[in-house]
Amino acid sequence: MSAPSEEDLNREAGIIIEKIHAYIDQGKKVFATCSFQSQSLPLLHMISRVNREIPVYYTNTGFLFSETIRFIDQVRVQLGLNVIALRPEFPKMKQLDRSGRFLYASDPDHCCYLNKVKPLEPVLIEKDIWINGIRADQSDVRAAMAEEEPAQHNCKRFHPMLGWTSKMVYYYRQYNGLPEHPLESQGYKSIGCEPCTAKSFGDHNERNARWFGMNKTECGLNTTLIAKGG
Ligand code: SF4
Repeated sequence: MSAPSEEDLNREAGIIIEKIHAYIDQGKKVFATCSFQSQSLPLLHMISRVNREIPVYYTNTGFLFSETIRFIDQVRVQLGLNVIALRPEFPKMKQLDRSGRFLYASDPDHCCYLNKVKPLEPVLIEKDIWINGIRADQSDVRAAMAEEEPAQHNCKRFHPMLGWTSKMVYYYRQYNGLPEHPLESQGYKSIGCEPCTAKSFGDHNERNARWFGMNKTECGLNTTLIAKGG
């Protein structure tokens, strides 16, 4: 398949920008979450073209790579974004299992709940529209999602990138001079917390090296925080 043209990608981006504007025009309180990987950059670029005051939250779990922390600051400055760090309420010394190990080693679902899901709850209570950059080609869980989904606390999730492919993301970044996460050139395709991220392998699933060896593919932001039954 040939590379998507700059014109085509700009048209796709324009549709997303119009949809975000429409929410704002309806008086909705809009926010985004971001993991600040290379693949996050197109959506952040579009958000910066709508309104740079839109809050972009990330959770500083305390387990992020130092390269990610520096990359967040680089992107914040380059795109002029309103980036806000959320922090877990529970100190790390209260996040140990009975053997004295950090929870990510024995109960990663609970670790993600404390460090990623719980810090976002006050934001969901306050806001109306959660812009989230998941794509269908990233995993089966994500492929099963709709462009809009109800989230907890009467918030609505908006997945504008759902139909975008990794190739579209790559070329949008190239056409717009958007930077690359420094760990990508070292073989990491999907980057989260350091203890739960390994170098990628194979071609099919870019998230296959996250929580490697554990029966887990999502951190809970994209599963736990979806409101069941509307
Ligand atoms: S990704 Fe790993 S370290 Fe980060 S919150 Fe989840 S289980 Fe904990």
